[in-house]
Amino acid sequence: MNCKRLEGKIAIVTASTEGIGYSIAKRLAQEGAKVMISSRKDSNVKKAVNELLGENLSVAGVTCHVGKAEDRKKLFSETLSKFGGLDILVSNAAVNPVVGSVLDCPEEAWDKIFDINVKCTYLLMRESLPLLQKSKSPSITIISSIAGYQPFDILGAYSVSKTALLGLCKAAAENLSVYGIRVNGIAPGIIKTKFSETLYSSEATYEATIDKVPLRRLGMPDEIGSIAAFLASEDASYITGETIIAAGGMASRL
Ligand code: NAP
Repeated sequence: MNCKRLEGKIAIVTASTEGIGYSIAKRLAQEGAKVMISSRKDSNVKKAVNELLGENLSVAGVTCHVGKAEDRKKLFSETLSKFGGLDILVSNAAVNPVVGSVLDCPEEAWDKIFDINVKCTYLLMRESLPLLQKSKSPSITIISSIAGYQPFDILGAYSVSKTALLGLCKAAAENLSVYGIRVNGIAPGIIKTKFSETLYSSEATYEATIDKVPLRRLGMPDEIGSIAAFLASEDASYITGETIIAAGGMASRL
């Protein structure tokens, strides 16, 4: 990676021990940022940190279940003590405990989806402000989804939670512009990770999925990492309140 747009910057990426979060963390570090890796399981954090250290990248790790207030507090305090501040927050963690249409979603599953996907993103953004307000080029990136634009039948409530993140991005961008904090989002299409496995694991589901994608392939996590690096860099210095769709041309009209 010859592009070093993030030298001297410090980043937190939630849920960054595999999949899209891992690729984002790796790319930010490859571009020169110091990155705090985190997810719920200590073994996953250690594995991801060791892999990235093995590539001579500047990373550290801490366990953080985004739904736990004490874990979020530790995420910020560890980042401050290890790296000395914060310039980039990427809120990437999300859950989808049920498969089914929106009105079939059980109330407890609805609450969990909105708690982790929406409320915890808002809390992380709020709790990051004391550190981001001290940064010279602060930014927040929220990971939404193509499903936030065009709801997936089998991911009803999850899709609505991702639509809420489009609104959170817009509203917070207005709020935080006074501090020079840019807030943007990324709406990935169907990316090859564990999370989306049911959409491609058999030949039949793979074909049905690919039929909806004009580029006729799944996206790869690194194709989202590159967008996160752009949004956090000075190359995106006049962009705020926007969500970039990377979905191989899938329908995306809200
Ligand atoms: P993934 O490959 O399944 O990775 C999930 C990561 O999240 C793991 O590192 C996991 O580690 C961590 N995690 C899970 N729950 C967590 C929690 N409560 N707190 C902190 N970390 C947690 O998932 P992914 O596909 O990369 O998805 C990442 C984001 O992209 C999500 O916001 C998802 O909605 C979005 N997205 C994905 C796709 C897709 O097709 N894959 C499409 C659009 C949007 P632990 O088990 O150690 O916690």
